[in-house]
Amino acid sequence: MALESTLAIVLKSFPYGDTSKIARCYTRDFGKLSIIAKGIKTSKTLQSGYLEPMNCLSLNFYYNPKRQLQIFSKAEFSQPLLSLKHDVKKLSYGFAVVELVDRTVTGEEPHAELFHFTEDVLEAMDKSEGHLNRLFWFFEMKLLSLLGFRPHLSNCPHCQGSMESAFFSLGYGELLCGNCSVGTGMQLSQQSVAVLKALKNGSLDNVGDISFGAAERREVGGFLQQYFSFHVEGLSEVRSLRVMESILA
Ligand SMILES: [Zn+2]
Repeated sequence: MALESTLAIVLKSFPYGDTSKIARCYTRDFGKLSIIAKGIKTSKTLQSGYLEPMNCLSLNFYYNPKRQLQIFSKAEFSQPLLSLKHDVKKLSYGFAVVELVDRTVTGEEPHAELFHFTEDVLEAMDKSEGHLNRLFWFFEMKLLSLLGFRPHLSNCPHCQGSMESAFFSLGYGELLCGNCSVGTGMQLSQQSVAVLKALKNGSLDNVGDISFGAAERREVGGFLQQYFSFHVEGLSEVRSLRVMESILA
């Protein structure tokens, strides 16, 4: 069993017995790992607070590829998230980010680009002054593209015609132009398609500049949710956002 170190984002953690804790982490070098920190709650040297969701850590652990649970050694914060956990809206979006990573990434296959992007999004949400929703959509679009499910936004995948307004076909799981859709599925206005394109071509620094009204908010949010649930098994909704909506309602 070798002592390894990597960068990690805690996705989920729960108590194990009276004194220990298990955390599911997304790591830069080992993909998704489950780690047990034995006796951490009573230890004077190990700090239990590290293993909480959304924390970005430099993690040391004992690795045995044959075991399902790796053994925690120690950690420190790799980037401090100062406000993310003290604001109910930021907290909910932060939870939604780690929930999506947890539910879409499987196994120990590392993906450094997705890892660093997730870290950067959490950091941007931490510093955000009010465009959490755009940051989350931007995260969803990029995640879809890294998973290989980027939606067609410029040309219809069936007739290659231009996509001014579009329909999301639940039969095909794709956005189609008005001519190819057979009247079923969810319609996206020209403005909503433009918002999706801006998200697709945007960056973390300028995503806050994308503007849209209430109709686009409904359409784009609804489309991304339906698109995820079509392409990712078992993902009918992002639970963390549902919780936030019920708190704020
Ligand atoms: Zn078409």
